[in-house]
Amino acid sequence: MTEKTGRYDDGDAFRRAVLIVLLIFTTAFGAGFAVLNYNNANYTAMAGEIAMGLFALCLVPVIRGTTQLIRWSFVYLVLFNTTMMLILATPQSSPSVFAWVLLIPILSHMLLGRALGGGVTAVFLVTALVIYYTRFSESSLNGNPRALLNVAGVALCIFGFSFVYETSRSRAERALKRQAHTDPLTGLGNRAHLKLRFQQATARHERDGTPLALLLLDIDFFKTINDTYGHEAGDNALRAVSSLLNDNIRPDDGVFRYGGEEFCILLSNASPARARQVAETLRRLIEASIFDEAGATLSFTTSIGVASFPRDGADLQALLGAADKRLYAAKLAGRNRVVWG
Ligand code: GH3
Ligand code: MG
Ligand code: MG
Repeated sequence: MTEKTGRYDDGDAFRRAVLIVLLIFTTAFGAGFAVLNYNNANYTAMAGEIAMGLFALCLVPVIRGTTQLIRWSFVYLVLFNTTMMLILATPQSSPSVFAWVLLIPILSHMLLGRALGGGVTAVFLVTALVIYYTRFSESSLNGNPRALLNVAGVALCIFGFSFVYETSRSRAERALKRQAHTDPLTGLGNRAHLKLRFQQATARHERDGTPLALLLLDIDFFKTINDTYGHEAGDNALRAVSSLLNDNIRPDDGVFRYGGEEFCILLSNASPARARQVAETLRRLIEASIFDEAGATLSFTTSIGVASFPRDGADLQALLGAADKRLYAAKLAGRNRVVWG
């Protein structure tokens, strides 16, 4: 994407769903194992399982609404893994409990991503292996090193596969989000991206009062370019205008393809006076430009409507409405001009 700055929203629905399923499983398995451990008189394990199960149950509604998903996931996984380690360390627990350790790399990567998930996995796998070795080094289970090697080998394989899986999953997710926010012809952000960037800009405005403004720019008589030089020439002209606009805004501003031959420019930190000035500069730049098209040269003009936030509209739709009215007024007044409030 050629638009200057921009990050997509986290889109953490997948991680939220994974954590909620884990919480429900924790509650269900916690209850089941607590009963088994009560029968085995392993009261420490039983207490840990009941506590984790109840905590998990109470967390479900919190996770549904939280904006701090990674933080909650981290806290929960650390608690979940620590409880698992404590249970592994109790002398009454069976060696088969170690099977649960294999969940650690998978859950950590799914919930925390590659870096943090990898770190959590490394810490708890090492802890689990130390506990395993300490508990069974004397027993027949570990009479030869093969048993430990099997457990460690499988755990490391799952660690590796989870790491690779999470890497390609997060890459694919980023690529999809990028596509969903990009106009394929010009490489500019589309309306979805404008919406996201506007939310970020208004959040900043609420924090520190930074003024912002929006320009709606429409190429004059664009249909004539298509009719005279062909549709491909029209496409090239749209690409050329995109680059020109993008090259002449500040790094914090953004250019978006709003519609066919309409562009929207979001100016952060722009007073109404500066917005007018930027609009006038861009209009003049395009008017003075000569675009090459297969040996022929073409030139055209633009009309621009300017709207300032919050003076001309309290949300994106209202602001676009105000800019659109002014753009229409610019067209009616003869085109190739800027209209502001
Ligand atoms: P005005 O000065 O009133 O804006 O006139 P105009 O000709 O620019 O506006 P009009 O709305 O009549 O025509 C817009 C044209 O833009 C029609 C449409 O075919 C063309 N167009 C829209 N999207 C694209 C595109 O992606 N590529 C090309 N080549 N043309 C496009
Ligand atoms: Mg037009
Ligand atoms: Mg138009």
